[in-house]
Amino acid sequence: MLIERGFLHLNQGKHYWVREAYPADAVSLRSISSDNFVVVDQTSGAPEIIAEVDFRSALQTLHEKAIYLLEGRRFIVEKMDYDERKAYVKRTEVDYYTNAISYRNVKVLEEFRGEEIAGARKSHGEVHVARQVVGFKKVKFHTMENVGFGNLQLPQDDLQTTSFWLRLDGKQVAALGGTPDERVLAVWGLSYILHRLAPLFLMCDAGDIDEAVCDDQTGSPLTPVQQRPAAFRREPLPSQFDPVIFLYDNYPGGIGLSEPLFRLSGRLIEHAAEVVAQCECSAGCPSCVGAHIDPGRNLKRMVVEILAGLGAVRST
Ligand SMILES: [Zn+2]
Repeated sequence: MLIERGFLHLNQGKHYWVREAYPADAVSLRSISSDNFVVVDQTSGAPEIIAEVDFRSALQTLHEKAIYLLEGRRFIVEKMDYDERKAYVKRTEVDYYTNAISYRNVKVLEEFRGEEIAGARKSHGEVHVARQVVGFKKVKFHTMENVGFGNLQLPQDDLQTTSFWLRLDGKQVAALGGTPDERVLAVWGLSYILHRLAPLFLMCDAGDIDEAVCDDQTGSPLTPVQQRPAAFRREPLPSQFDPVIFLYDNYPGGIGLSEPLFRLSGRLIEHAAEVVAQCECSAGCPSCVGAHIDPGRNLKRMVVEILAGLGAVRST
């Protein structure tokens, strides 16, 4: 193909590069997409470019009103020029950071390997992730409290990658009791802790993997009502669902994390059960099943029950 397109020339059994451009120029070391956003600081009179962010991260970190963190300094994004790929920011001293809320709908394209385990089926394979940032929450530094929300409308971002997934037994999840919303929050709580522990087993960065929870029955994302933008809050959750937790490689094509995750998942689940059991909180916290949980409800108990259903033996 490269010969046909005039990139290579075959001479006496050897291929020679015949183009003027240096081939490595077309490969970004930071990310696969070269469609980067630049961050323009407008704090002083003279606008200054302070950073460059890859396209996928930009949708999460450079939307309007986002707090952009750079070398310990905080900037508020005043305007995101999507077409020009520019974000205009100003220095700020707020006591919170922002977390984008996105809908992630994952479709399985091919299962490479699957195995029935207690209370679930675990698999790894190729997936398509459609991600759309629909809002953001403000999270206070240190306490991780939620101190506000905002709505956003950003274009959908598609990603084809590899993933590990855990399809939970819908009947066992239904048997947890509580409202559908509480059960979905509990599944997200489990996803939260698996996602945070996985980098310890894979020796990767937390941002190298992302998580999603979808319903196998409807093929749509399962999102707790309280985490949705205002316009979608009225739509109720189905009473019966088969939740699938996806932990996918956060890079186009995948970077080989899903296969080891599939192999190590038994230990990962055991370790998660241990961390949740040993955490001193009563109903869930950022150190175990996540900060998004309403402290009034005992969702930690539900997560412990799901983990027990997955055959995890607590050591305490
Ligand atoms: Zn806790």
